[in-house]
Order: sequence, then C-alpha cells, then structure tokens
Amino acid sequence: MGSSIVILTGAGISAESGVDTFRDKGGIWSRYDLREVATPEGFAANPALVHGFYNDRRSQLSQVEPNAAHYALAQLERQYRGQVLLITQNIDDLHERAGSHNLIYMHGELAKALCAHCGSRHEWREALSVDIPCPDCRTKGALRPDVVWFGEMPYHMERIYEALSACNLFLSIGTSGSVYPAAQFVEEAAVAGAHTVELNLEPSENVYNFDEAIHGPASKIVPAYVDRILSGQVNA
Ligand code: NAD
Repeated sequence: MGSSIVILTGAGISAESGVDTFRDKGGIWSRYDLREVATPEGFAANPALVHGFYNDRRSQLSQVEPNAAHYALAQLERQYRGQVLLITQNIDDLHERAGSHNLIYMHGELAKALCAHCGSRHEWREALSVDIPCPDCRTKGALRPDVVWFGEMPYHMERIYEALSACNLFLSIGTSGSVYPAAQFVEEAAVAGAHTVELNLEPSENVYNFDEAIHGPASKIVPAYVDRILSGQVNA
C-alpha cells in the first residue's frame, strides 16, 4: 500500500556525532545570546559577530561524522516500500552525508550562503565575511549564512504540511519540542490519522501529544525502531 512516513529530526540526532544541541549545559549556544547570533536584528547590528559564530560551526562540519541514527534513517529511505520524507531542523550536513536524499532542511544549511541582495544561493565551505562580494551580483556585505533565524519563516512549509496531511507514521527524533512551527507537526500528523512516535533522550515538552514514546540515545533507539519498521512490526 502507499504508506508514507514523515520524520522530523532536531539537534539531538547529531549530539552523539559531537555537534552541540541547543540546550546543552556549557554548550556553544549557552555561551551566546541567541538574539545576537540568530536573529535578523542581531545580524544587522553586528554582522562580524554573526559571521564568526556560523564560520566556527561551518568549520566544525569537517570534524564530525554521521552516527548510527543518521545511517539508519538513510537505510529506511532505501529499503522501505513506501514514501519516506525526512525534515530536519538541523543545519549540519550529517543526514546528507549518511545517504538520505528525500530531505528538507527547514532551517537552512550551514554549508550554503544566501545573498540578501539578489537572493542567489551558493555552496559555501569557507568562512563568510562582510568583505566578500556575492558571486552573482557582486554586492559586498550582502552574503549571509543560509540559515533561518528566529523571526524568519522556515523553508518549504507548504511541502511539509502537504506531507504531514498524508502521512501514516510520524517520527520526531532528538528535538525538544520547543521551537515552532516544528513542535506542532505532531498535531498535524495526528489529525491526518498517523501513528505518532517520539524518539528522544528524555521526554520532550510535548511528549503527551505522541501515541508512543521511546527514550534513550538516538544511536541506539533509532536503528532499533527502523528495524521494527522494516520487519513489518510497526503499523505504517
Ligand atoms: P534542542 O537542543 O532544543 O533539543 C534537543 C533534544 O535532543 C533535547 O530534547 C534532548 O533531550 C535531545 N537529545 C540530546 N541528546 C540526545 C541523544 N543522544 N539522542 C536523542 N536525543 C537527544 O534542539 P531542537 O529541538 O533541534 O531545536 C533547536 C534549534 O536549534 C533548531 O531550530 C535547530 O535548527 C537549531 N540547532 C541545530 C543544530 C544542528 O544543526 N545540529 C544544533 C543545535 C541547534
């Protein structure tokens, strides 16, 4: 049958790869003021600080590797007989490097730059600065990290809601359920009649919205759940 699985991932799936989550005590995010580094106003006020913050994150991509949870989701996409759509809130490239293809980066990508002047997007592995001209329109100071900041509209929302409204199984992995609109996806999937499952280290803020919840490290619980799906033990 035409079964469809929609999976939402958050910072927790990359934690065991060595990428800090949002809320880790002592993690990168706790040392910065989010309003300064993750809002359009922060960028306008101090672009060098914001570039520096994302340049550090971007340079760390080459030092981290996908973990068993990323690989299990790529395996699910390859082997499942229905549709598998992966929506990530993460801006790292670990799902892609693990082999996932049907992937939506709803909060953008660290490895891309966006020109605020002409709207062009560019693969970007190096440091960004206010002195670099846009490769397309040559405007200086207009390149920004292609990430969605607080107060901005996440990408591909129409495609996401369409998939949620037609899914049979919804998995939420490694996300605290505190950042909207992603935190609401479980309710959209439930309205569509999907079975909803949380896979997280600990109960998230909206665990009560899920039909099923499994708690533990993603590298253990995600491969185990993927095995259950692929062996037909989950009704999807
Ligand atoms: P979050 O930090 O708010 O929540 C992470 C969740 O993962 C927590 O509930 C935590 O219990 C869980 N977790 C931690 N370690 C885990 C593990 N080993 N296995 C399973 N779960 C684990 O992150 P969020 O919900 O993704 O929202 C934060 C926002 O910050 C997002 O918008 C995201 O774009 C951004 N962010 C991205 C990255 C990244 O790209 N890797 C990293 C940090 C933050």
